[in-house]
Amino acid sequence: MIADVLKQASGALALGAAAFSVSACTTVPAGNTGGGASADTKAALCQTGGVTVLGLFETAGRHHCTVTGPGAVTLSVDPEAAAAGPINPSPWYRFELEAERGTGFAVTLDYGDYRHRYNPLIEHDGDIAPLDAARVLREEPGNRVTLSLALDVGTTLVSGRNARTPDQIAAWSEAFARDHGFESIEYGRSAQGRVLEALVAGNEREDTLIVAVTRQHPPEVSGAQAFEAFAERLAGQGGGRDARILLIPLANPDGVAGGHWRHGARGVDLNRDWYTAEEPAVSAAQALIEAEAEGRDQILFFDFHSTNRTVIYSPPDDYAGRGADFLAQLRALYAAELSNPPPWEGAHNPGKGTSKGWAISVLEAPGLTVELADHAESPEIEAVGTLTADAALSYARSR
Ligand SMILES: [Zn+2]
Repeated sequence: MIADVLKQASGALALGAAAFSVSACTTVPAGNTGGGASADTKAALCQTGGVTVLGLFETAGRHHCTVTGPGAVTLSVDPEAAAAGPINPSPWYRFELEAERGTGFAVTLDYGDYRHRYNPLIEHDGDIAPLDAARVLREEPGNRVTLSLALDVGTTLVSGRNARTPDQIAAWSEAFARDHGFESIEYGRSAQGRVLEALVAGNEREDTLIVAVTRQHPPEVSGAQAFEAFAERLAGQGGGRDARILLIPLANPDGVAGGHWRHGARGVDLNRDWYTAEEPAVSAAQALIEAEAEGRDQILFFDFHSTNRTVIYSPPDDYAGRGADFLAQLRALYAAELSNPPPWEGAHNPGKGTSKGWAISVLEAPGLTVELADHAESPEIEAVGTLTADAALSYARSR
């Protein structure tokens, strides 16, 4: 497909067009069965100054490209097409720049009614680094931002966050299962037919079930990194000897693959769907969790996300149900071990259809949403993940 588009491009240039713009959004690739990479859908969005802007690959943002001058383009940063009305402002961008030679190149990100949120990461030849803040020119109040890039020859990937693609997550899951003796199970298929994978371990008869979920919201990568730290700690401490453990590392594969800001493939925010369970990815997760929860004395439930700060959304402050003592223990551990413990907000909204609300009402579990700051550094991510695991395991062992 790249070759075809470039052929069209050179045709356009031969006809005397100084620049061209391919309308990418009319050719959104169909979902792939099995969630495999789909490099064949990568396409040129526009080309100028010896640089081709490429999009439409798995996890790419949703962009239209306009050439604004030699070596300068404007890229729209668009939400998923199925979104009706305003969408949570998580403007995901990710595109490649293919340079024929080393050159300067300016990309203006145009967010429309939304604002720049994610600091750019630049990946070239396997090295990944944040773009120097001096090269990010923000037009207040932030609806447009220009990135001044110094490109080396070859392919440079520009991304709002480190994407943690479905392929990378599958590789992590495979290594995790192998290293720690977890079983990988397919618990269903997403709306677009992608595999929904869970990792399970531990004695089937254990009293306590520990459940962790992440990536309901595609761009929330720092939360996913905390989930991985949590999982590694649980497994590394031999958690499967004292609890049944159920991990869901990619709850919304369609949204992640599609470069979505928020939703699954059909315009539904998965973390508002837990009371309605219209999305296959949600109903399948619920069926798996409920089957595992059957007959347990105690269930601990964690859903890892990202937002503008690190914060814990907990059950209501007056929660006195099953596992209320666990909440007190976890909070005390954060306070003892973290120099800057996350605020703890008990503003539980039972009408919102979050996984946390579902865990409280259906599982009778002290459901928690663990939110990491978008740009949290590794030590904080690691600390929140490992302390949460330590508290969960200590609780399971005390029973
Ligand atoms: Zn979220």
